[in-house]
Amino acid sequence: MPISYREQAPLTCPHCGNDFSAEIWLIIDADEEPETAAALRREEVNIVTCPHCGARGPAGAPLLYHDAQARRVLFAPAPGAADHEIREQARELHALLVGSIDIEQRRPYLADVDIAQDMSGLAHLLRRLDARRRGPASPPSPPAPLSDEPPPLLAAVEALLAADTAADLEQALAKHPELLEPATIVTLTQLAEVATAQGEAEIAQGLRNARDLLAGMSRHTASERLTAIPPEALQALLNAHSDAELEQAIARYPLLLRPEIDELLAVEIETALASDTERLAQLIEARRSMLATFRATLAPAADLETAIEALLVADDEDAIAHVLDQYPLLLSETAEQALWEFAAEARAGGDEALARHAIACRELLRRVRAGLEEDRS
Ligand SMILES: [Zn+2]
Repeated sequence: MPISYREQAPLTCPHCGNDFSAEIWLIIDADEEPETAAALRREEVNIVTCPHCGARGPAGAPLLYHDAQARRVLFAPAPGAADHEIREQARELHALLVGSIDIEQRRPYLADVDIAQDMSGLAHLLRRLDARRRGPASPPSPPAPLSDEPPPLLAAVEALLAADTAADLEQALAKHPELLEPATIVTLTQLAEVATAQGEAEIAQGLRNARDLLAGMSRHTASERLTAIPPEALQALLNAHSDAELEQAIARYPLLLRPEIDELLAVEIETALASDTERLAQLIEARRSMLATFRATLAPAADLETAIEALLVADDEDAIAHVLDQYPLLLSETAEQALWEFAAEARAGGDEALARHAIACRELLRRVRAGLEEDRS
């Protein structure tokens, strides 16, 4: 099962402003792609040439690099990405990476992702690691035992297990959002097995407890009604000044589409009025009605899962066109994101064919969306 992953990305030339598409790497596996890994060290990966004006430059994409022999996972975010976007990019690519590796092959180092400043920082880090590996002073070190250098996931697990109250638990999750990644449950199971094999019974038990806690919680949170809007979701909503921005906010915080949000926004409006911040109240009211309009457009096909299932079984162009007509929701970033997660889960479950199909569907949606945006401008 290939680990490396590249995709055709829609790009806009910063020099002449024209749109074009180019194939870019998102995951590079050192064993599979030695030449690309070498090009990465020369900072020549994801450099694209605009077919309109010939300008050459970085594609501005995130990249995850995996080297099983060196037991390293490195990540370079897309330039200019905000912190939460960086975390999201890293999480998505990491889930895809872990899902591509056979369960028996997964090792604790996979949970330990080194985040570089950018592509150039990543290349620099690789060259430094090469030099260290070659250097006579430090022969290749033997595989480190689990207890030697706990990966960040272990720190997250410790925080999770130390949480005594619901508030502590929420805090641990806010601090370590990777815990809520569906792949984390699989990774924890695998880490527990490794810990058992290495005679670390206590760590293994802790990992299994954390896994069970998380598994129970994701079932719980899915059905539980929200009692307050998370501040970061509210902020994202307030910052959305157009439908496109609203869609982005929803893609980032899908909970904004929950039915109880409308009521919670009404509460926020009352709170704002009570504290004499009329402008804030008006702003929230405006966003509340934008959300209501958005939800109304989705109403006949509100169920993204149903839409994605219909798309995945559509077997020719006509069928796909019909599904897109029926479920316009598919032409949103939310749907792209959902397909990506679907692919990651399919890979994690060993269904490579389904994962590839989901990724192909996602690329198709991206092409259709890019085409629609071109028509509009
Ligand atoms: Zn150009």
